[in-house]
Amino acid sequence: MRKVAIYGKGGIGKSTTTQNTVAGLVGLGRKVMVVGCDPKADSTRLLLGGLAQKSVLDTLREEGEDVELDDIRKRGYGGTWCVESGGPEPGVGCAGRGIITSINMLESLGAYEESEELDYAFYDVLGDVVCGGFAMPIRDGKAEEIYIVVSGEMMAMYAANNISKGIMKFAQNGSVRLGGLICNSRAVDNEHEMIDEFAKKLGTKMIHFVPRENDVQRAEINRKTVIEWNPEVPQADVYRNLAKAIDENKDFVIPTPMEIEELESLLMAYGLMQAA
Ligand code: ADP
Ligand code: MG
Repeated sequence: MRKVAIYGKGGIGKSTTTQNTVAGLVGLGRKVMVVGCDPKADSTRLLLGGLAQKSVLDTLREEGEDVELDDIRKRGYGGTWCVESGGPEPGVGCAGRGIITSINMLESLGAYEESEELDYAFYDVLGDVVCGGFAMPIRDGKAEEIYIVVSGEMMAMYAANNISKGIMKFAQNGSVRLGGLICNSRAVDNEHEMIDEFAKKLGTKMIHFVPRENDVQRAEINRKTVIEWNPEVPQADVYRNLAKAIDENKDFVIPTPMEIEELESLLMAYGLMQAA
């Protein structure tokens, strides 16, 4: 089983990209479990058709320790397994703990070694690597393969660089590696070239460029991935190709994060190219 985590700045498109890509993997015949690691618990909505998924932490709060596997996971599109770790009550406790509790719970309930074998577990992880809790999936080999969702916007690139620092740190003594950058376009000038270059500097590659496209919203309003909503539109092909690229990927690296000054020069170089 490949254990994949998707990281990136808040709002960059992690949950959207993860679910749409998972729909593409299902098309390749892969068996996938998606674990949402965001207190918003919106990582599986498109796969579940909007069904409110009771989170692991809510289930624990309401039912105590006596939890069964089927209390915390639901079947979604194409037979995918969907789990939401959830979060603490607002203002109380550390959100990162929810991730730790959930993964431990899934492990102890045997979610990973079912009779029907999983090809992938995907962790859709909130925001930046700012606290130990959010770094949890990349510690102790919980996730071994990381993709960072990024765009040509400065803050998204800062976050990607910070996440790379976190991966580098945990890669020294562990098996976690960076598999690539997914550029989820914000239609910034020279974005494709800049993210290609940024990926090179980080020692990795841009595994796919995902255009910004309103069909993503149209599918979202219908509580579906693009592939389920309308498999004929060009964006459905984009996600199928991204799924194929991940499925065939063999380049896993320890990233080489950039110095802030170097990152700013990169942004300036590509920004100025347009002005000229
Ligand atoms: P995150 O999980 O990183 O916080 P989301 O996946 O929730 O971000 O994405 C935020 C919003 O951006 C979503 O409402 C989604 O519809 C939109 N979005 C993401 N990717 C695209 C895209 N390629 N084209 C158009 N809209 C997108
Ligand atoms: Mg999300």
